[in-house]
Amino acid sequence: MPGIRVAEFNDHIRMLNKYYQIITLNDAHKFLNSDPYPNVKNSILLTFDDGLSDHYLAAKILSKHGIKGTFFIPTCILIDKLPANPTIIHYCLAIYGIQKFLVMYRSALRKYNISMSKYNVSFKKGIDNPLGIILNVKSILKYKLKHNIARKILLYIYKNSLLRDYPNAMEIMHLTQDQISKMTKMGHSVGPHSHTHISIASARLTEKDFVKEVINPKKILEDLFHVPVIAFSYPFGLRQDCLTQQELVNKKTEYKLAFTIEEAVNTKNTPSFELNRCSVEIRNRNNVKNLKNDLEKNINANSYIHK
Ligand SMILES: [Zn+2]
Repeated sequence: MPGIRVAEFNDHIRMLNKYYQIITLNDAHKFLNSDPYPNVKNSILLTFDDGLSDHYLAAKILSKHGIKGTFFIPTCILIDKLPANPTIIHYCLAIYGIQKFLVMYRSALRKYNISMSKYNVSFKKGIDNPLGIILNVKSILKYKLKHNIARKILLYIYKNSLLRDYPNAMEIMHLTQDQISKMTKMGHSVGPHSHTHISIASARLTEKDFVKEVINPKKILEDLFHVPVIAFSYPFGLRQDCLTQQELVNKKTEYKLAFTIEEAVNTKNTPSFELNRCSVEIRNRNNVKNLKNDLEKNINANSYIHK
């Protein structure tokens, strides 16, 4: 986190601490289970997705303010020592630009004999809107290709760019096991964000892949960090990415809570496997007042913020 964002993050935390009650994941669980839980009005849970390297600094800052956050981690960063899917895309686009990214993407399509006519994406500088092209290639990788094929393409790109140019790419991008261990010792909670960061509902996973992406990550975190893991955060988190309450109940997982990114306040009536969150990007909401206004729009009883 650059200095300016650290200062801003500190300001945000101070404001949240002043106007709201920042609760823990266990508090949220108790509240949803109707256990006696006083003063839930204006309560906020802070969650962080993707296991990004700068979350370690965020965890230390929260700790300094006496706050316990919840960090959702794609377990591939721990077990496979490989980055999550969107992290590969974001870093490659930032470092190499869209042209070079698409050259690598096409080369992966050729390598794995994937239909060029169906999935090729091209970009003409000065003619095409880069944002539209990026959304298109993201949507192909997220929804149109099978999740295991998309993963192969992204790992091919990663190994031929980021990993080649930055041997410590993993530490630049993601939290290390040691950092997560320290974060749990600070009292923060952890939960899975699937294994490789895929759209769980739209992937129509086989039983084996559901175990790999949803069931096993809980055990992985519990075994590595010796903490109870009660919550899952759906990658991407929109309706098309998340199972419904009933669908997840039918899967008989051992989770108690699951988080989407639907922007709304959670009440006692919110299904515990369809929890809402308000998404906050510090760089897009560049002052504390904006953040407070956004929250006020959402909050009347109890809400969760997602960072
Ligand atoms: Zn994510």
